[in-house]
Amino acid sequence: NEYTNHEIKTFDKDHVWHHLTPGSAADNGLPVFVKGQGLDLWDIDGNQYLDASAGGVWVTNTGYGRKEIVDAISEQLLDLNFFASAMGNKPAAIFASHLIDKMPGMNRVFYSSSGSEANEKAFKMVRQISHKKYAGKKSKILYRERDYHGTTIAALSATGQSQRRDQFGPFVPDFVEFPHCFEYRSQFEETVDYGVKAAQLMEDVILQEGPDTVGAVIIEPITAGGGIITPPEGYLKAVEQICKKHNVLLILDEVVCGLGRTGKWFGYQHYDIQPDIVTMAKGVASGYAAISCTVTTEAVYKDLQESDNTDKLGYFRDISTYGGCLAGPAAAIANMNIIEKENLIENSAKMGDLLLVGLQELKTKYPIIGDVRGKGLLVGIELVTDSTSKQPVDETLAISIFAKCKQAGLLIGRTNRSFAEFNNILNMSPALCVTEAQIQQILTTLDQAFSDLTVDLTQA
Ligand code: PMP
Repeated sequence: NEYTNHEIKTFDKDHVWHHLTPGSAADNGLPVFVKGQGLDLWDIDGNQYLDASAGGVWVTNTGYGRKEIVDAISEQLLDLNFFASAMGNKPAAIFASHLIDKMPGMNRVFYSSSGSEANEKAFKMVRQISHKKYAGKKSKILYRERDYHGTTIAALSATGQSQRRDQFGPFVPDFVEFPHCFEYRSQFEETVDYGVKAAQLMEDVILQEGPDTVGAVIIEPITAGGGIITPPEGYLKAVEQICKKHNVLLILDEVVCGLGRTGKWFGYQHYDIQPDIVTMAKGVASGYAAISCTVTTEAVYKDLQESDNTDKLGYFRDISTYGGCLAGPAAAIANMNIIEKENLIENSAKMGDLLLVGLQELKTKYPIIGDVRGKGLLVGIELVTDSTSKQPVDETLAISIFAKCKQAGLLIGRTNRSFAEFNNILNMSPALCVTEAQIQQILTTLDQAFSDLTVDLTQA
């Protein structure tokens, strides 16, 4: 290498503007990673870690160092690296057909490059359908408290996390929030039929706004960054039915859940529902290329096909320069092949169960663990001062567990480290190729971290 480690750290400190964190990686005690293989990572100083965070933000579904994916990208780029998506291209066509195979009821794939952009496309589809079919009147998009849909202004306008929104307003009009279905912190005294009651809270907002003004609802099937919140029994089915009843499109943000993370190809497939639009990004190419997809039913596609008249183009006039070109879908095909060849969907479900059971055991040992929840390899723990009050612990305790794990060579997820609302929640979301031994290592390291924390607290 032409630069020393010291020079690289200096360049980082002096010039890189890190996401979500003030100061440099070194200032924040965060490693500069230089190599990955499977779930193992090495930093610039030669320290080795087991990555139980899939690249920190649920991206690397098939793990690091996958030569098949890199070869697929380089072969494609040598053949043809770019031509605008309005033309056809081979990998985009092939990946679309493979993807649709996994999504009964869906039929069209619109490519772009990030999760935020995939959601923007969905919103623009809803807005244009409102103009074409409802004289612009069905333009409202309902989003849920705690859900995250991205960083662009419209995606942020649809995000129910106040600390992310703070100081970025004004927001895009006609985005309206509704309450979450967070059973652990239920809005109701009585938890019988909680899922149906929580869905009713969404219908209340539709009725309040006027169903004729609401074009769509967007939700994360399992809320990731907002606290790893799985939907209670009956919730998503009720949401689907309420949307149908009021002629409201159901958009599911599968940016985190998609491509096997929860033990099925898509998170919503656990719940027997049929969305109108599904967005996905991170796991689509596991971080080997930037690719996202907005997948729709044929009905949504058809609504956006016909021109209204000759001087007003009615079809979906949208574009994304890099969408579907060409490294992205080439990587996505190879990534999907690995998931199938190595049975990673089954592995995600099986290893996720082991992780969940192991964490439940830790919960019985350490009262600070108030809740353990998740599906497949999207698993979280919520830390509380005591199980009755459920008061969130001070963020220093979650930081301490994260730091103790890191010290012991384990990276767990703390995606909302800057957001006081959720910073008592940690997540364990390894790549889908995680082995039983690695799950054990995650659990043993966490056990030790909680045991050390207990000692720290009694000594304090
Ligand atoms: N939706 C969800 C559920 C996400 O977690 C994220 C990213 N964390 C996004 C959308 C935005 O994706 P991107 O950062 O690729 O724009």
